[in-house]
Amino acid sequence: MAIQTTNPTTNEKVKSFKEMTGKAVDAAVAQAANAFEHWRHTSYEQRSHLLHKVALLMREKKQLLAKLITLEMGKLIAQAEAEIILSADIIDYYANNGAAFLNDKTLSPSFGKAFIRYSPVGVLLGVEPWNFPFYQVARFAAPNIMIGNTVMVKHASIVPQCAIAIEDLFKEAKAPAGLYTNLLISGKRASALVSDERIKGVALTGSEAAGASIASQAGKYLKKSVLELGGSDAFIILEDADIDKAVEWAVVGRMNNNGECCVASKRFIAVEPIADEFINKFKEKLSHINVGDPMDPDTELGPLSSEEAAVQIADQVQRSVDAGAKLLLGGKRVDRPGAFMQPTILTDLKPGMAAYHEELFGPVASFYRVKDEAAAIVLANDSPFGLGGSVFTQDVERGKRVADQIDTGMVFINHPTWTQADLPFGGSKRSGYGHELSELGIEEFVNKKLIRTSELSDPF
Ligand code: NAP
Repeated sequence: MAIQTTNPTTNEKVKSFKEMTGKAVDAAVAQAANAFEHWRHTSYEQRSHLLHKVALLMREKKQLLAKLITLEMGKLIAQAEAEIILSADIIDYYANNGAAFLNDKTLSPSFGKAFIRYSPVGVLLGVEPWNFPFYQVARFAAPNIMIGNTVMVKHASIVPQCAIAIEDLFKEAKAPAGLYTNLLISGKRASALVSDERIKGVALTGSEAAGASIASQAGKYLKKSVLELGGSDAFIILEDADIDKAVEWAVVGRMNNNGECCVASKRFIAVEPIADEFINKFKEKLSHINVGDPMDPDTELGPLSSEEAAVQIADQVQRSVDAGAKLLLGGKRVDRPGAFMQPTILTDLKPGMAAYHEELFGPVASFYRVKDEAAAIVLANDSPFGLGGSVFTQDVERGKRVADQIDTGMVFINHPTWTQADLPFGGSKRSGYGHELSELGIEEFVNKKLIRTSELSDPF
């Protein structure tokens, strides 16, 4: 894939970038490995100071950075600004809490004394997606820099200016050379780089195919990996839900980020008694969504991230309709230049249809009507993915009981799946393994070393 900025609002090519040569990548890895030998001996205060500086610069440049996001992948400008703030919050969160998370943990063995000491492991590779160009990088880089690791980031090829801007923030914050390195290379070369003995671990957020490629290399070379992959979150509406509120959240859950969130609400499952009311109100809201230029603050739905993404989702809708699904709303590309897709609702979906099993990465909602709560849970779990999910009910205890039976890494009651610095993020099944964010996110790429003191007279 060419490394270039193409504005999805117009599909015009804006700027191309040359891939790094093999020699340049080798020199960059050497620099990251050298930087690690110094960085691993810095204090938590020094690391925290640097991260706070990066977060501050991010906040100061919010508008400029947000415009880059919108230019390169089409996010609504207000959401792009919110992403910059969320990213700075994550960086500050690890700067504030990292030292406490990494404190020695005292154990109580049956005899003698023991504790766990956390230490860094070395140079890490992060492979990141375009859909949250700053947030995804923040949640990988900040905890690892706090641990004392050094990081190299291969960002998605369609957001090179965002990728370069993040590296520039570290330079401006006076990070030592090699602490944070942007790699302008293809995905294939990123997978190959996992074999380099100087790389000690790899995290990928992206598709199942890319995840499988990285994980197989990590397995082959016996390195730790963390995978955050796709999702097809169920959004269950029970008969005792506040339907108007559920509809409002359904619109946000599906349309946020132009529908391109791994944790977007993708499958709307309503129980029979309230199914008509829910779907009528949901359709009414989606049919009035203002589609247009993401730089315009009045726009509610922008383009997809690229022409390829728009072609792909239109094809998934068409294949589902060809197999017998019905279109309640939309279903076509918008008649204007750019990577636009109409807000769409599919109904009458059955196993075997594309939209039943595949992830729909765009403004296309799947609607299902089921008899009762038990049927809703069975349908929610009939997915290869296990990322997030939502349950809408006014009975919170009932919500927790349903949440307990949903086979995913995260379930939100009365809210679409969402994220913040102090909540762990991760999936099950084909949505990947491992965690980012919260205390769990700082525990992935550390050596948790047991140090045990024994009396010379202790038994063997
Ligand atoms: P993608 O094609 O997998 O791209 C993600 C990253 O992987 C990019 O940097 C890409 O580089 C790279 N890549 C592609 N092929 C690779 C390979 N063979 N080896 C190593 N790296 C490779 O993903 P996408 O379709 O653009 O992004 C959307 C996907 O990400 C969706 O499935 C979404 O659900 C998922 N996602 C998950 C989370 C989560 O936290 N679970 C968050 C956001 C997105 P190039 O751009 O150069 O191809």
